[in-house]
Amino acid sequence: MVNILRKNFRKLKCRLFRCRTAFFYKTSRVAGIFIALFILFNLWGCATAPHRRVPPRGVYHIVGSGQTIYRIAKTYNVEVNVIMLANQINDPTKIGVGQQLFIPGAETVLWIEPYRPVIKESVEKIVGQKNYFSKWKYITLHHSATSQGNAERFDRNHRSRGMGGLFYHFVIGNGTASDDGEIEVGWRWQKQAQANRPYDIQICLVGNFNEQQVSNAQFGTLVELINVLRKQYGIPISNIRGHKDIKGSTTECPGNYFPFDRIKTELRKTNPY
Ligand SMILES: [Zn+2]
Repeated sequence: MVNILRKNFRKLKCRLFRCRTAFFYKTSRVAGIFIALFILFNLWGCATAPHRRVPPRGVYHIVGSGQTIYRIAKTYNVEVNVIMLANQINDPTKIGVGQQLFIPGAETVLWIEPYRPVIKESVEKIVGQKNYFSKWKYITLHHSATSQGNAERFDRNHRSRGMGGLFYHFVIGNGTASDDGEIEVGWRWQKQAQANRPYDIQICLVGNFNEQQVSNAQFGTLVELINVLRKQYGIPISNIRGHKDIKGSTTECPGNYFPFDRIKTELRKTNPY
């Protein structure tokens, strides 16, 4: 009797175990199918759902007369490089009237004060009164060999190279980090200090004139600046030179496109000496 009971109990145990295993097996199979379907739908969704790109915030600005990328960037409070990147501009000096520029981050189109060429009276003011203790005899012309720049950036660069800050007495901008044709005065001129050669005024035009031309605004400003300096210090045209013309120099500065002959012709119109 006891044996019969034991046998039945074992049978029952076996059945229960089989039942539990079958239930577990069935449940995991259903779950597996659901997981597989979920992954499949997700993958399918990724492959076929259209990319909904949120349009970047900003406005389109139409470039007007006398507007440089520097002025536009300054007015909209956006970096020049950000505008260049958004509009795929390689040369920041080459933006033209009527060109449409996307200004990232801007909310409304703003009015931009047009550039006005530098006139003789303002150059006289920038240069200041003649210093009777200074004996300037030469003017040496440079290019920055960079597409962008201003006095502050060059000052930082020259300081890091142990040159005691901005080497140049004057920097003439190209509309990228200061206005096109704008004159910036260096500390050496303010202190009437020489750079590396005595009695030699150093003027730098922003740009690489092995690759691009001097802008009309830069040309006009440079001629006015030299006229004022020549008048104050009696510097003859023969003492105006490019950096590469100095004996012993091994540089291409101020570049092959620098319009040296055209500058001299203009200067002669004011004073042939
Ligand atoms: Zn130079």
